[in-house]
Amino acid sequence: MTTRLALLGSTGSIGRTCLRIAAGHPGRFQVLALAAGTQWELLAEQVRAFRPSLVSVATDEAASALREALAASRAPMPTIAVGEEGLRAVATCNAADIVVSALTGGIGVVPTVAAVRAGKDVALANKEALVIAGEIIARDVRRYRVRLLPVDSEISAIWQCLEAGRGASIRRILLTASGGPFRDLPAERFPEITPEQALAHPTWVMGRKVSVDSATLMNKGFEVFETRWLFDMPLEKIEVLIHRESVVHSLVEYADGSIIAQLGVPDMTLPIQYALTYPERLPSPVEPLDLAAIGSLTFAPPDTARFPALALARHAAEVGGTMPAVLSGADEVAVAAFLSGRLLFTDIATLVEETMARHESTRDPSLDDVRAAERWAKATAQSLVGSVAAAGVRGRTTPRSAAR
Ligand code: MG
Repeated sequence: MTTRLALLGSTGSIGRTCLRIAAGHPGRFQVLALAAGTQWELLAEQVRAFRPSLVSVATDEAASALREALAASRAPMPTIAVGEEGLRAVATCNAADIVVSALTGGIGVVPTVAAVRAGKDVALANKEALVIAGEIIARDVRRYRVRLLPVDSEISAIWQCLEAGRGASIRRILLTASGGPFRDLPAERFPEITPEQALAHPTWVMGRKVSVDSATLMNKGFEVFETRWLFDMPLEKIEVLIHRESVVHSLVEYADGSIIAQLGVPDMTLPIQYALTYPERLPSPVEPLDLAAIGSLTFAPPDTARFPALALARHAAEVGGTMPAVLSGADEVAVAAFLSGRLLFTDIATLVEETMARHESTRDPSLDDVRAAERWAKATAQSLVGSVAAAGVRGRTTPRSAAR
């Protein structure tokens, strides 16, 4: 059996791993379509290796550069599409069995929805799609009778644990978090955190946005949404557990008190491959887990005083409606402002909170409503960067700010 893939985000961390898996199982996968942003050189290499018939890039400049590079190498020329239309074309690519949704940020919402509505199974790595439009996507998945296959390691773990039983017998989902690079850093040192430190995750190799979201624990908040919508799980049954070894990828507790866990080395190859081959398990090049060498596994509750983003995400989930779209839009702006040196690390959550505080959530939103709320959040957060930054710097000189 050959699984035909369309890949949104082929030059990112998830996309590259996906293509390594495809290359490692010749004949099992066929790559039909690839969408990338502006990394046309890497995309040209991927086209030469996998011969997709359709590719998409973000800009006309990247399209021209890609066309030239491919013409020079005399590789077969795929159709080259551009921008949002290009993403939509890849997402709805006629012959694809699975669309891998691995774009970063809110830009992933529309193509993910388009893939579902085109009747495609979607391997989902783009968390923001379920944060911004979770309710809409969950409804569409049922309506179009497609499968949403989790790629995120923790969500994949829950999916695998749920093989042990579903429904009312589930007491709690225990969503594990490594705690990120600052899990042991005292609160008063948080304002000094630099982008370089935030990008250096102790266990996982990821893109820039996800790395910063992991450092603030916003990423774990997003995973609460993923758990909520992928498994139709009430929020009160979803708990976050700090587990620094990143070996237990999550757990499910049942009514009888029994807990089922999924363990593995922290390597995205495993959950991606499982999503692409489910319900089969194929060999992988990942080193086996050596539990004796690891020796001990530790668990602790999360500290929402040092990591307020986690509480903000849960609040947005509880409010529902358009508030989660605002959470996501504001976070995207806040992370970019932190990475460009305009905000302190501690300002990220403040900016998200300030933006959410200005939003009146609408119930039962349409796709247009959540997209409008996300755009509003980005514009509002952008307009608040200056004042939040000024307050953050002022705060550093007073002892109170340290514990914020
Ligand atoms: Mg994860």
